Amino acid sequence: MRAWTVVPGEAGSGAVREVAEPDEADGSVLVETLGVGVCGTDREILSGDYGEAPPGASFLILGHECVGRVVSGGDGLVPGDHVVPVVRRPDPVPCANCAVGEWDMCRNGRYTERGIVGRHGYAAERFRVEPGFCVKIAPRLAGAGMLLEPASVVAKAWEHIERIGERARFCPERVLVTGAGPIGLLAALLGVQRGLEVHVLDLATSGPKVDRVRELGASYHTALVEACMDADIVIECTGSGQLVIDVMQTSSPNGIVCLTGISSGHREIRVDAGALSRNLVLENAVVLGSVNANLRHYAAAARALEVAEPRWLEALVTRRVRLDDWPRAVERDAKDIKTVIDFAS
Ligand code: BGC
Repeated sequence: MRAWTVVPGEAGSGAVREVAEPDEADGSVLVETLGVGVCGTDREILSGDYGEAPPGASFLILGHECVGRVVSGGDGLVPGDHVVPVVRRPDPVPCANCAVGEWDMCRNGRYTERGIVGRHGYAAERFRVEPGFCVKIAPRLAGAGMLLEPASVVAKAWEHIERIGERARFCPERVLVTGAGPIGLLAALLGVQRGLEVHVLDLATSGPKVDRVRELGASYHTALVEACMDADIVIECTGSGQLVIDVMQTSSPNGIVCLTGISSGHREIRVDAGALSRNLVLENAVVLGSVNANLRHYAAAARALEVAEPRWLEALVTRRVRLDDWPRAVERDAKDIKTVIDFAS
């Protein structure tokens, strides 16, 4: 079968290659892949900066945002079911969190991630997965099913924000989301679903990102000063160093700033650390980082996508390319929200 692969650590090594049929050790459920979303993590792996092949393998099959159809299953899954496979697997020790299914909070960093760290991903014509590591979705969500993984990351961020908020009386009104990519738009969707006043900041001045924000009934801004300087919650989704510092500096009383963007690093910025910490302390503010998701978050994300407007959701997928055209899927275009590698056609 054919798969989208890379040699981790080697920039420019992305390739479609013939690979062996999925290993039975990967799980009892055999799935045919329908679509795989491409994200910043894939680009980082392709540029040689991140990622790890499975032990003993010379390459890594990419793909961690995936939707597929069960070919043969068991454990409640039947052929034809649409499923979304989970990215992370617990560390083998396991740490206190992995031992109870909270692998997104792994304490020793020895977790593995399909398509990212130490395990083949889902960007192959077929893959296998353990029944406990895939989520069945409604067939009508199949077209946008690969958005469930980024939505799970956002659902986790919201869950943690709400848990922190409950340290005192929590009655948030406004949320600022920085970045109108897939993570930002899904974070905005979950904010609207909570009845909050949602503001989204991005650089685009027109196009699908602006349209999707407005369709949600949220406000769209291109400058932080006019976006929302008194947000109760900020969800930072760009990973841009300057913006990360800026949103930390603008936090409001009891404010919660959740960082979800993974910065590439290598850029130094001068910061008045004293003023920053003074602001955080005097406002009882919290800055937290949030990554990955466990089964509870996938379930919450599935509920959020099920009640979202189907056309809005599908419009987040702005481009579908065939496996052979994967280099086009990796190119960045200001009009793109989510590009998907289509295995169904
Ligand atoms: C994925 C997460 C993963 C993270 C770090 C992100 O792109 O969505 O599931 O934990 O990369 O590897």
